[in-house]
Amino acid sequence: MTDPKKTGRMSRRNLILMAGAGTLMASIAPGLLKVEAANASETSNITPDAALQKLMDGNRRYIQQKRTFPDQSRSRILELAKGQHPFAIVLGCSDSRVAPEILFDQGLGDLFEIRVAGNVLDNVVLGSIEYAAAELGVPLLVVLGHERCGAVKAALDGKPVPGHIGSLVAAIKPAVYATKGQLGDAWDNAVRANVKMSVNKLKALSPILAKAVKAGTLKVVGARYDIDSGEVEVIA
Ligand SMILES: [Zn+2]
Repeated sequence: MTDPKKTGRMSRRNLILMAGAGTLMASIAPGLLKVEAANASETSNITPDAALQKLMDGNRRYIQQKRTFPDQSRSRILELAKGQHPFAIVLGCSDSRVAPEILFDQGLGDLFEIRVAGNVLDNVVLGSIEYAAAELGVPLLVVLGHERCGAVKAALDGKPVPGHIGSLVAAIKPAVYATKGQLGDAWDNAVRANVKMSVNKLKALSPILAKAVKAGTLKVVGARYDIDSGEVEVIA
């Protein structure tokens, strides 16, 4: 026999879940529509090029040890409590030496970050990026690889790896194959190819991003962080 109490509880729970899903759809759908008719002033008060310049200026301050540590005050925290308006999405590596806020000299609420070893792109990562682009109207997306990336090295070495590290290596393998036999440093060639392939995939696989790029409201660039100098170079 079904316990009526239990059934009631389940029904209420389902109702709550359904209501939650409805709220989520309602909050995302207007954002998606916003992208369809997007223009720079509507989605953000900074253009894609100005956003890129802002990042590069911050990286210059970081290299020259002239960081200003912006947007980290108590008033910034209070301002952000009302909502976030980041000006750049960064898909970067989890490597502890490649922290975007530090190397771009930015603060709270400035960067929408997705960090995963080898800055690999999968559907879940793509979902996060599309959310930031469509719902938050972020004008710039940077895929940030870096010199001497351990995840890329594992893919290059091709040795057996334990556990789920294999999934990571498999995601980077195409960059290794694409650069096989190329002149120069095989490790760095694969790092660069891994970034460039992600940039191309982002533009090709996501209609949401492709539309925003076409409308001029989103710029997608690939960059490489130099572990030795701290410099970020735009490579795609
Ligand atoms: Zn890395």
